Amino acid sequence: MIARVIVDVPSRKTDRPFDYLVPVPMQEWVEVGSRVGVPFGGRVLQGFVVGFADSAEVDESRLKALAEVLDPVPPLASDLVELARWMSEKYCCTWTAALQAMIPSALRGKARRVVALAGPEQVAEQADLLGPSPLPEAVTAYIGAGHGVLLTTLLDRYPEAAGQIRAALRQGTLVEHARLRDRMQVRKVLTVYPPERPEAAREALAQLPQRAVRQRELLARVLELDEPIALQQLLTETGASAGSVRALADKDLLALREREVGRDPYAGRSFARSEPLALTAPQAEVHAQICAAMEEARGRVLLLQGVTGSGKTEVYLQAIERSIARGREAIVLVPEIALTPQMVERFKGRFGDDVAVLHSRLSGGERYDEWRKIKARRVRVAIGARSAIFAPFERIGLIIIDEEHESSYKQEESPKYHARDVAIKRARQHGAVVVLGSATPSLESYVAATAARPAATAAEGGPEAARALLPLSERVQGRPLPPVELVDMRLELEAGNRSMFSRRLRSALAERLERGEQAVLLLNRRGYSTFVMCRSCGYTAGCPHCDISLTYHQKTRMLRCHYCGHAESAPTACPSCESEHIRFFGTGTQRVEEELARLFPGVRVIRMDVDTTTEKGAHEKLLSAFGARQADVLLGTQMVAKGLDFPYVTLVGVIAADASLNLPDFRAAEKTFQLLTQVAGRAGRHHLAGEVVVQTYAPEHYSIQAARRHDYTGFAQQELRHRRLLSYPPYCRLALVTMTHPQLPLLVEQGERFAAALRELAGREGVLAPLDGASPRALEIFGPVASPIPRLKDRYRFQCMIKYRGSLDAAQLLRDALAPFTAGSAPDRVLFSVDVDPQVIM
Ligand code: ADP
Ligand code: ZN
Ligand code: ZN
Repeated sequence: MIARVIVDVPSRKTDRPFDYLVPVPMQEWVEVGSRVGVPFGGRVLQGFVVGFADSAEVDESRLKALAEVLDPVPPLASDLVELARWMSEKYCCTWTAALQAMIPSALRGKARRVVALAGPEQVAEQADLLGPSPLPEAVTAYIGAGHGVLLTTLLDRYPEAAGQIRAALRQGTLVEHARLRDRMQVRKVLTVYPPERPEAAREALAQLPQRAVRQRELLARVLELDEPIALQQLLTETGASAGSVRALADKDLLALREREVGRDPYAGRSFARSEPLALTAPQAEVHAQICAAMEEARGRVLLLQGVTGSGKTEVYLQAIERSIARGREAIVLVPEIALTPQMVERFKGRFGDDVAVLHSRLSGGERYDEWRKIKARRVRVAIGARSAIFAPFERIGLIIIDEEHESSYKQEESPKYHARDVAIKRARQHGAVVVLGSATPSLESYVAATAARPAATAAEGGPEAARALLPLSERVQGRPLPPVELVDMRLELEAGNRSMFSRRLRSALAERLERGEQAVLLLNRRGYSTFVMCRSCGYTAGCPHCDISLTYHQKTRMLRCHYCGHAESAPTACPSCESEHIRFFGTGTQRVEEELARLFPGVRVIRMDVDTTTEKGAHEKLLSAFGARQADVLLGTQMVAKGLDFPYVTLVGVIAADASLNLPDFRAAEKTFQLLTQVAGRAGRHHLAGEVVVQTYAPEHYSIQAARRHDYTGFAQQELRHRRLLSYPPYCRLALVTMTHPQLPLLVEQGERFAAALRELAGREGVLAPLDGASPRALEIFGPVASPIPRLKDRYRFQCMIKYRGSLDAAQLLRDALAPFTAGSAPDRVLFSVDVDPQVIM
């Protein structure tokens, strides 16, 4: 039996299955998806079995054997192993990277040295030659016949025998080998169980002398236990010592055992039970369509386009109920779960303990335990950020992606996957339905769901052609969408108002404070940063290793580079002209907060930005304080735009709507429209009507005009015209190849060679053609040119942008063109990285 194993080495060169013999005792245990330890280059490394073979690709007598199988049940089922292979092809990443993305970090095994006694035959053989084992008997007994003990543990315990242990290792009576240990163990707690023979315990209690007060109390308490109790808790409750518990255990009057406990991030929290609501007619229609698609079980993708407050979440909840009733599991993706505690509450409230929550702010142990709940089928719903798409369910019926347009669904480091695409692939594997929900769908999803489907995505063909658009165009219970008013900030300046608040927004805020209602203020900070500039000479502080400006941190008075971590203390005079007029342009939100305090003395403000939300649970605390009306204003960056539902919010103010319009990104208008629509949706969601005031320097821009009218379709039509004209997605696809090296000439030379190789390959395939031409299959290569961030961590950066459309496998072309450049392992070679369907082009 030969297993094919992907070994965890993060290199393209070794990214292929290696063959290993499976020793007979392991054969019952090994399956596709098993995590194994394998000898590799003189070490023991972790790997995953991806298949089996009858004969090896190399000389079988030279094959090594698996060292161990790490789990009784494989952590990955075969569908995930297959998905990883698909990801490695689609995203040009290593197979290993894709597999690793699917398991909790707790399961990334680390090799440790353990020693064990050599087998008896071996010992006998050695004894003839070398004499008896030098090990003291106590040491031999301690090591015992088992799998071995950690060498460090052994030396700690018998320091005086260190010499003999070494001698035994040399002699061969002790053998050393590497074993993989998980980084995180299942948490076990010493637990007291009620006595197995309570009569005996009662008798013993009767016989205990009266003065043994503690012992009597303890035993009495144990006798009335109807379920096991943690030792620690028992000690606290009774004031007894651990020694007296042990004494009782030794007499069999109680049982003391280790019990596995889950680290539950929501332990001790109760969630208000939420009963299903009677669906409105439009909700019921959408729900019926989702259920019909689930019955079809063909892996369909449905786009639920519902305005903010239209009751999408209620539809999700009831669709999941149906999925559970059909005996299928459900995965729910939310953009960044730490930002959407209200969403988690609604799911926990409806499904209780049937939900596992996977998000980035969990500790490694908590994450591992939530993952094991899914694996052991103790829950049927998983809700989480991007990587929850890998939840190890085996019968998925429904995958929901809420706010599907959010860029956080794309992972920016390897594997650079998009959770939406992975979801669609996984749904096909399981015959599940994907529901993409948003008030402002990405243009890619919108085009795919409507008739205006361009040829570029037809390549995927098949079931995707059956995508459909499900609209929810009104808020529930006839609540109106809030009116949006634009304020032209240029006119404010003309009128002599230099404040960051327009007169209109200021009076709207004053009204809210008077009426005891609440306001949400958004400072659109994309493209802004907090930097240091000299007012005299214009000098700005930049990172010495990267070509970008340093960010000022007020708390520590340090300047930091967000890319490489370089830090220096803030200067008191300009390093360039020695002027003292060097200014720290502190975080935008801090300045707004100060201005609010000046304009409205006594106003209670909760500020939510990167500075106030670094601690675990900070978002939740801030939001629940705001929900409890402990503040009048919630002020923040993009974070305040998402998913919040507070009944007393009747005003939303946007301080600088167009800050994101001028970014060098073809999605700038789309991002601006999405942000404005999302944040406007926070106002007037309940019985109180709301309004929105948007301050802008570009009130005539179509994205801002469309947001004012709540007009997604109008925006989409105009934006799609631009995209088609300039050949941008969804009318083509992109792939970005970034290459880096410390030496510029070498980088440029290799970059040119790579681009030439790719051109040649594409030419041979007959697809090298301009995108604005008539050819149905076309691929164009732009660059190499310097990246928008031209240097990072002392490495220069160049990029090639590849645009293509039609049925051609660009990833395959890229992999072929890259192969000669990534084959070597020279430490000084140019590093290439590929980003398929990039969201950020830096
Ligand atoms: P969305 O997710 O589309 O923004 P929500 O699901 O948050 O909308 O719904 C907005 C509000 O309407 C919530 O307070 C929700 O409880 C309420 N709601 C949703 N569906 C119904 C319904 N069928 N009947 C009554 N209230 C509803
Ligand atoms: Zn830097
Ligand atoms: Zn200066």
